[in-house]
Amino acid sequence: MSDIKNRQILLVARPEGEPKPSDFQLVESDVPALGEGEVLCQTIYLSLDPYMRGRMNESKNYAKPVELGMVMEGGCVGKVIASNDSKFAEGDIVEGKGGWQSLFALPGKALRKIDPAWGPISTSVGVLGMPGMTAYTGLLNIGKPQPDETVVVAAASGAVGSVVGQIARIKGARAVGIAGSKEKCQYVTDAFGFDACVNHRADDFEEQITGACPDGIDVYFENVAGKVFETVLPLFNPFARIPVCGTIAIANDTGLPPGPNQMHYMLRQILTKRLTFRGFIVSDFADQKEEAFSTLGGWIREDKLRYKEDIVDGLENAPEALIGLLKGENFGKLVIRVSDDPTK
Ligand code: NDP
Repeated sequence: MSDIKNRQILLVARPEGEPKPSDFQLVESDVPALGEGEVLCQTIYLSLDPYMRGRMNESKNYAKPVELGMVMEGGCVGKVIASNDSKFAEGDIVEGKGGWQSLFALPGKALRKIDPAWGPISTSVGVLGMPGMTAYTGLLNIGKPQPDETVVVAAASGAVGSVVGQIARIKGARAVGIAGSKEKCQYVTDAFGFDACVNHRADDFEEQITGACPDGIDVYFENVAGKVFETVLPLFNPFARIPVCGTIAIANDTGLPPGPNQMHYMLRQILTKRLTFRGFIVSDFADQKEEAFSTLGGWIREDKLRYKEDIVDGLENAPEALIGLLKGENFGKLVIRVSDDPTK
């Protein structure tokens, strides 16, 4: 294996506001050494996710930042090429936090074996991976949608939002999506079966979302924050539940936004309407992993749950793709194809 090199993308600068390509550097390095109990994998797919923007900041939020000069963090689907763990053999397909690189070595216990018979292996970082589990656990544990209630979710064509709305429908609720273009909205209603979808970039967004929710909002699954949140807040019904999953619209902000402080208004809404807000990280529900994946997998097989992937070729294109994701340029679960998929 001496002629093979690893290709890695390092974080080399901390962005102020929007990340830039120069915050990243592509380097070649030696094949990772294989320690006791470790498994060496060739990356097939690298998942790109909004949380990565937070890892580029110096300050810790719920997880440690990536250190400067280190490989960017990321979930991967890989093929085992050497193994010091008897549970994994050469050729096995696995999922784990390999990072932005073409080869990765991880302890066997940090890997999940993927059976290609379950479906496309890329879904193990999508609908049958972290984003799918986020939608499932956040909506069902916190949102608790009831038949005929109205569930609203933004980033509705994306990895988490698309699953949230479809589960809401499976539970008998009305699903209203919010997405960033006419084309995305059309897809959300036509392919994912949402009852309605509204473009948050339209001039009359406020009128449109109000019209799409004639009975108010019972569950608002928060993926974005910013203008979208401010627009839907007055529509919440008494006892509405708000799983706070993500705040991508303010991910690049370096301070508080200008304009009136709405904190007092929000507190009055929480009090008078008895709203429940609960932030969560998918790992809070780690004990529900098996249930989530087996239920989501079953719904896919029954065609009750659909997904859309946005696959970009080449590890070197990961920085631009992540920058685009933060501006809504992806259409579906964003995945980098780092090497050929041997199951296709
Ligand atoms: P998506 O695949 O949905 O991609 C991100 C989408 O966010 C974009 O396509 C865009 O969609 C939307 N977006 C970007 N900027 C804005 C903006 N300024 N205003 C409104 N929408 C915007 O990503 P995911 O499904 O992977 O993630 C969705 C959310 O879930 C994120 O906030 C993420 O951080 C969060 N998350 C949280 C987890 C947790 O454990 N709490 C785990 C996984 C994800 P559009 O063009 O439609 O606006």
